Amino acid sequence: MTPILELVGVTAGYGRIEVLHGVDLTLPRGAVMALLGPNGAGKTTLLKVASGQVRATAGHVHVGGAHVNGAAPDALARAGLCTIPEGRSVFPNLTVRENLRLASYAGVSAAHVYATAFDRFPRLAERAGQLAGSLSGGEQQMLAMARALATNPAVLLIDELSMGLAPLVVRELYEVVAGLAADGVSVLVVEQFADAALAVADRAAVLVHGRVVAAGGPDDIADELANLYLGSA
Ligand code: ATP
Repeated sequence: MTPILELVGVTAGYGRIEVLHGVDLTLPRGAVMALLGPNGAGKTTLLKVASGQVRATAGHVHVGGAHVNGAAPDALARAGLCTIPEGRSVFPNLTVRENLRLASYAGVSAAHVYATAFDRFPRLAERAGQLAGSLSGGEQQMLAMARALATNPAVLLIDELSMGLAPLVVRELYEVVAGLAADGVSVLVVEQFADAALAVADRAAVLVHGRVVAAGGPDDIADELANLYLGSA
């Protein structure tokens, strides 16, 4: 089956600074892939290339088999790709329900968005009238995920899912990620700390200085990770 996301020989950066130097990465359909690596390795840049925010200067990006180099982020969203940026980007001065309503769009009613969000995240239902800015970090991540899922994505890209969260909350969120994959949503998740992500990931890749230094199943990258001291938070 065609992978949902594929990067082949991707080179990209900012102005004259090259950050990614010929990256190959394949995300199979319905899989969870952990993209690991130290600070500044280029993980966020890779997500930006995949989501059309940064253009590859060489190589190819395919979404669902279609060549998408240079496609605008909104076109990629229509192709089924959705990104949750680092920091989660919920609207802090709006309630949970209002945040969800803004995620509804032509063809998908607010009622449907609420129903699916509250079904997957009962905690959000309990806090529907609460300002998003007053939610815990984990609840904000749930809200960001619920907003992303409102668009029915085929592939979800999540940057630093566990940033600033307690280990128990992180495990809970990864349970959700595993559930998404079981429902057929492919997930590429960037993490600086590997353990929680690898507990549910089918695939993993380690990026160092803009190059993939190891890729495969979680066991295939263990040695490389140990070398990098990327253990638990
Ligand atoms: P972190 O875990 O710290 O977020 P990362 O692996 O996600 O790191 P990137 O954010 O992709 O790494 O950054 C890779 C390199 O690109 C860094 O050296 C960074 O300073 C540089 N960089 C990132 N964004 C820009 C930008 N907008 N303009 C210029 N350089 C940038």
